[in-house]
Amino acid sequence: MPLTPRDSAPSTPTLTRATLRPECSSCFALCCTALGFSRSADFAVDKPAGTPCRNLDSAFSCTIHDRLRPRGFRGCTVFDCFGAGQNVSQNLFRGVSWREEPGTAREMFTAFTVVRQLHEMLWYLAEAGTRTFDPDTSYTVDDLRSALERAMGKGAQQVLALDLDSLHTRVRSVLMDVSEEVRASYLATGDDHLGVALVPGADLMGQTLRSRPLHGADLRGAYLIAADLRECDLSGADLLGADLRDARLGGADLSKALYLTQAQLDAAHGDSGTLIPQDLSAPSHWQD
Ligand code: SF4
Repeated sequence: MPLTPRDSAPSTPTLTRATLRPECSSCFALCCTALGFSRSADFAVDKPAGTPCRNLDSAFSCTIHDRLRPRGFRGCTVFDCFGAGQNVSQNLFRGVSWREEPGTAREMFTAFTVVRQLHEMLWYLAEAGTRTFDPDTSYTVDDLRSALERAMGKGAQQVLALDLDSLHTRVRSVLMDVSEEVRASYLATGDDHLGVALVPGADLMGQTLRSRPLHGADLRGAYLIAADLRECDLSGADLLGADLRDARLGGADLSKALYLTQAQLDAAHGDSGTLIPQDLSAPSHWQD
């Protein structure tokens, strides 16, 4: 189902980045039930989608919450639903859980996987709206944000009927426009100087880039697993979907990095000298 075309100026979006954060106490543990995972370094057990994790208690709390990493569930500490869990639980299904009404479970779990994608789009669009100086782009961003919010306000059936591919395409297009605009203002150094290819999707796994000027770099979708980014200036660098697992961020400046998420920070290693955007937080494991 396509989104409703605009017939007037977009309404002011209500879901800000502050409200697109997980609120687990208002969620029916949808990430611990709806999603499936395979046994790996991130998850100690196999779990099929649509089934409760064996560590979930009857009050929708995790029984090993304070021991997830040592117990082999690191993946749980880096997952971000962008606030989709509480929206599906409290708004789309009006606070009635899949345990109270088992007949809603399948629809609720499917809605969660869709709404998570919509909230993720809203997260990035919210940032795009604050970073662009182009009035037309700003209008497009607000129009998309409002349309996504309207679609979610119409209930689970409407959400499940959305054309996600088309939405992803439209959102990606405006995010790339804003990325280009922002990166241009940071005067990227270029990859010749660095001896590595700073391009979208670049394989920079384990690379030593310490103290390199990465401002304005297009690192969208780059593999930065275990890369040494200590003391790097990443202002205006596009990090959309970049894999920062085990990347070393000690002393790096990510305060003005573009499209950074909490999950990316949670998967990396920083320290007290790492600068991050105001609306994100330093993970507790950075203190270890
Ligand atoms: S280990 Fe805990 S946080 Fe992870 S899926 Fe299971 S119940 Fe949820």
